[in-house]
Amino acid sequence: MESFVNEVNFFEGNNPEDIVAQYGTPVYVYNERILRKRIRNVAGVVKKFPYKANFSMKANSNLTILKIVLEEGLNADAMSIGEVRLLELAGFPADRIFFVPNNVSDEELKYAIDKKIIVSLDSISQLERFGRLAPGSRCAVRINPGIGAGHSDSVVTAGKNTKFAVEEKDIPELLETAKKHNLKIVGINQHIGSLFMSPDPYLAAVTNLLRIAHKFEDLEFIDFGGGFGTPYHKLSGEQEFDINLLTEGIEKLLGDFIKETGKEILFKSEPGRYVVADCSVLLGRVYATKENYDKKYAGTDIGQNVLVRPTLYGSWHDVEILRNGKPVLPSSGTEVVSVTGNICESGDIIAKERELPIIKEGDLVCVLDAGAYGYSMCSPYNSRPRPAEVMICEDGSVRCIRRAETFEDLIRMF
Ligand SMILES: *Cc1c(COP(=O)(O)O)cnc(C)c1O
Repeated sequence: MESFVNEVNFFEGNNPEDIVAQYGTPVYVYNERILRKRIRNVAGVVKKFPYKANFSMKANSNLTILKIVLEEGLNADAMSIGEVRLLELAGFPADRIFFVPNNVSDEELKYAIDKKIIVSLDSISQLERFGRLAPGSRCAVRINPGIGAGHSDSVVTAGKNTKFAVEEKDIPELLETAKKHNLKIVGINQHIGSLFMSPDPYLAAVTNLLRIAHKFEDLEFIDFGGGFGTPYHKLSGEQEFDINLLTEGIEKLLGDFIKETGKEILFKSEPGRYVVADCSVLLGRVYATKENYDKKYAGTDIGQNVLVRPTLYGSWHDVEILRNGKPVLPSSGTEVVSVTGNICESGDIIAKERELPIIKEGDLVCVLDAGAYGYSMCSPYNSRPRPAEVMICEDGSVRCIRRAETFEDLIRMF
């Protein structure tokens, strides 16, 4: 496709120049219609058996988005007490929050214990700590099934090279520790990694976790983790992750498991990226164009402080160029250019040596698929306040869902 924003009518008839006139650049723009559609897709991954999708909120922790997730009936995963408290603020009751931390203090564990929020422990040592604090209570454990997958080594979260979870051979010791503190392990979860585009690695991990599940007697739920992919190369024709294929595969495995065990079990997943990635674009302004030793650069105000994925993981984000609020199509002519930010780091590049429509100063750069690990990984590095987030609502109106940070916000802690 030549333009994603045209293809899906992303701005719902609004002129992006009007949005940035009001909220400035850079700015994260969300589309409520696309968000809700994505939420409904993950809610329906398993239809034949009891199933709940938990939104992994580290992908996006905007309060308005959390409220929409709640309203659509998803539960949520939190990685820290800060995230738990945000979920509470959004209106999530304790039984719809799953706390999946690693390496946490007594203080963090106590907060969850007091609120009766189910905690998943990530190691025997954390289970021991939890058992001392809350003997006789219910909890979950995170299992490393030995299978990992992901778009970059730094997001593979299972297998033989990660810090996460308890490996299978340690399960007897885990059960001993639980017994010592009279803990009831009511759930097991896993998370193999992020951004796979074929259901196969996920299904392999599901198969493996179901096998491991037989080692636990009191299970009420089994959580297969997140990681569902979303196409970051839409403009060159990459297709959606096929949820239906996943449904077919999972339902067969779950059906066999239930037949075998006769157990009434709730199955869960923990998607983050899939829910929020493509409901958001990031708009920035081109303030300079130049050639340096024969290479072309377009300099924008989208620094790595605003979107760190390209710098951190070498991630690809499709980029569109908007002029007078309308996409400039590649068919009008292209050139190879690097789109960079305004941070003093050589890694501050959004799109490296890309073939893009010819960019002029004053154009808007529209970075696609910015909703997951976008704002949630922002920082005020270089003392640049974080940007605003706005939402294009289903009725087409534009609403501010987080104001931009100010200089005063930045100096408040001194
Ligand atoms: C980050 C994370 C997720 C979500 O991963 P996505 O790739 O965004 O779907 C799910 N579960 C756990 C434990 C995580 O750490």
